Amino acid sequence: MPSTKKENQVTNLDAVVIGAGFSGLYMLYRLREAGLSTRAYEAAGGVGGVWYWNRYPGARCDSESIYYNYTFSEELYKEWSWTSRYPEQPEILRYLNFVADKFDLRKDIQFQTRIQSAHYDESSNRWNIRTEDGESISATYFITGVGCISTANIPNMKGLDNFKGDWYHTGHWPHEKVDFTGKRVGIIGTGSSGVQAIPVIAKEAAHLTVFQRTPQYTVPARNHPHTKEYIQQAKENFHEIKKTIRASLGGLPTPPSDRSALEDSPEVRQQVFEEAWKEGGPAILFSYADLLTNEDANETVSVFIRSKIREIVEDPETAEKLSPTYYYGTKRAIIDTDYFETYNRPNVSLVDVKKAPIQEITAQGIRTADAEYELDVIVFATGYDGMTGSLFKMDIRGKDDVSLKDKWENGSATSTYLGIATAGFPNMFMITGPESPSVLGNMPVAIEQHVEWVMDCIQYLRKHDIAAIEANADAEQAWSKHCRELADTTLYTKTESWYTGANIAGKARGFQIYVGGYGPYRDHCTEIAAKGYEGFSFITTANTVV
Ligand code: NAP
Repeated sequence: MPSTKKENQVTNLDAVVIGAGFSGLYMLYRLREAGLSTRAYEAAGGVGGVWYWNRYPGARCDSESIYYNYTFSEELYKEWSWTSRYPEQPEILRYLNFVADKFDLRKDIQFQTRIQSAHYDESSNRWNIRTEDGESISATYFITGVGCISTANIPNMKGLDNFKGDWYHTGHWPHEKVDFTGKRVGIIGTGSSGVQAIPVIAKEAAHLTVFQRTPQYTVPARNHPHTKEYIQQAKENFHEIKKTIRASLGGLPTPPSDRSALEDSPEVRQQVFEEAWKEGGPAILFSYADLLTNEDANETVSVFIRSKIREIVEDPETAEKLSPTYYYGTKRAIIDTDYFETYNRPNVSLVDVKKAPIQEITAQGIRTADAEYELDVIVFATGYDGMTGSLFKMDIRGKDDVSLKDKWENGSATSTYLGIATAGFPNMFMITGPESPSVLGNMPVAIEQHVEWVMDCIQYLRKHDIAAIEANADAEQAWSKHCRELADTTLYTKTESWYTGANIAGKARGFQIYVGGYGPYRDHCTEIAAKGYEGFSFITTANTVV
């Protein structure tokens, strides 16, 4: 077959960045500022990453706006004003578009282009990258900014093709408004996405049926508009905010308490939790130091939230079904607006699909083990193939033609050095990759740290005439072991969640996140760089390893 013109062309670049969300935009900016020829490739039609795709009703951020943004540019921070404590998706997407415009990033982003493969060529120390439509790119540095939770999990349910109504996944929501007026809607999933979407859809739909597998702890967000004075004050405190969140454990300025929940009397504890509940947001999670490490401490907060559910939900049977039993906070701690209150509406019903599992999607709706529910619309709020899903979607091959998926044994042997690099894949950098702190905090702070570390590293390589950098296998094993050992000191590993891969049928289990906190992790990465990139090997331009 004659090849197309595109197939014959090879674009030569210093660096390729995958994605144009928070990570990709900043990485592109820094590389370009440093004078490297760079292009970002993005499957979507615009910038934004998860904020481009997650247009579902109620989608909003769960970190406070004045901290959920870039802090690399004081000018940028001062030019943008957030309207509320927890802004909605359209506002966050506007922000990222504003960033792209301000720094004129769009001219170096190729939209609607999905990267199919990236293969490392040892003879040239370059990455050969191919897009799905056949374009070839050769680059020295291959940098993924694909997000930790961007590959949608649509459970393989029998009969979905037969459904006569419309169905959507929250992570791939249409650009046009989906009108639920007068419709019988079913929603599967009660994670962050479901908890945000349920109250909003319930207000519009004729009837909303929630298909719940695991009930969730969630606490009120207490969202509110920001005053001009508050925003002005944040801008004046820019340097302090930047310094504090970068040194913090989770990218937010309020330090968690240093007290054990078990140090206080039940009366004092009740008061602490009540105040945190009133404050909303992450306050309750931060109210004691050991909620995520001590089973008894965790039980105190879990009991408190269950009591709130019983207070809010009028029907005791529904309240019981909504009451979780896992360790609070070991699935992503959710904040909500009127979630439990929504179950008091006459047009909302709750189905426990753990008790009576979904058996199939029929032409008319959903059939569980004990009933059939007629529906016009089904919403899948069923989450993502987290951490490795988006990396595995590309055919990434390192030295000796070994694929990343094979090296990591489909996820069961995922191992990285610092969550940024992996042995056998020289000059590949993962922004917020597995075994970095990433999703256990306020993501933009984690992203900026990685981008800045990667940029410094690339500058070092160029300055010292080093062709490639590669993580050493022993340093990687030690880092993975350290991550697992730290995780095992917490309750995270005792709960089935997307953090552990348990949400995807057949996915290997493992907790691939560094739990030691953003600040300590940043210090460690800085130290590794200061020691001349300890734990990495260099390949010189003469192709010798040093
Ligand atoms: P999620 O937390 O993984 O929740 C998915 C939900 O779908 C769970 O309730 C899960 O039940 C259920 N589910 C999955 N497969 C199912 C099946 N086959 N049958 C029945 N139920 C099924 O996903 P998410 O809500 O999209 O959130 C993912 C992450 O994205 C969050 O943890 C957060 O980090 C991020 N996020 C953040 C925001 C925000 O900033 N506010 C908003 C949305 C998402 P099980 O619990 O039993 O597995």
